[in-house]
Amino acid sequence: MQLTNRRKVVSNKEQSFAEKIYLPAIVKGMAITFSHLFKKAPTIDYPNKTRPMAPVYRGQHVLKRDENGAERCTACGMCAVACPAEAITMESGERKKGEEHLYREEKYATIYEINMLRCIFCGLCEEACPKEAIFLTDRLVDTDYERRDMVYGKDKLVEKIDQRIDVSKRQTPEVLEFKKIPGLRHNELYKKIK
Ligand code: SF4
Ligand code: SF4
Repeated sequence: MQLTNRRKVVSNKEQSFAEKIYLPAIVKGMAITFSHLFKKAPTIDYPNKTRPMAPVYRGQHVLKRDENGAERCTACGMCAVACPAEAITMESGERKKGEEHLYREEKYATIYEINMLRCIFCGLCEEACPKEAIFLTDRLVDTDYERRDMVYGKDKLVEKIDQRIDVSKRQTPEVLEFKKIPGLRHNELYKKIK
């Protein structure tokens, strides 16, 4: 029984002399190659020029600070559990008296590392984070010569206190509205910097 009409009947007819010596096929192939000489080259002069990124592009992570400049991450480990590439590791510590301006909650990550060679930039860490602490940004991850240099620590991941990173580009208007709730405002400039 015929299920589709996509069946093709193979021809068993004898090859012509031209087909046997492959000459027409070679000429056809050369013509295609030659025609590409007059087309615009698909390569660009990177890094002097860059292609426009897709709005949903997921690049290097950032560990956000809150509106007062304190680190949001509480080292809960949800991102590490969600990570399918097992790229995230961390150690937690207890906030001491007088460190309230540094860490938002009593527990924080003393060490937080992402192995960029393992990461597949799926964004699941961002989805799993209950503290609005980790986001993937539109920044490219730099290349390096040493594998160990591709393990990014807090020095590269935590947002600089005077350099806000806008993480709203990939988020829908509904999500942005939701994040106007006090405590979730990760895109506002810090009100006070200590
Ligand atoms: S983007 Fe995906 S692979 Fe990369 S650290 Fe996050 S969860 Fe892991
Ligand atoms: S980034 Fe978010 S999910 Fe990961 S440890 Fe910190 S608070 Fe938890």
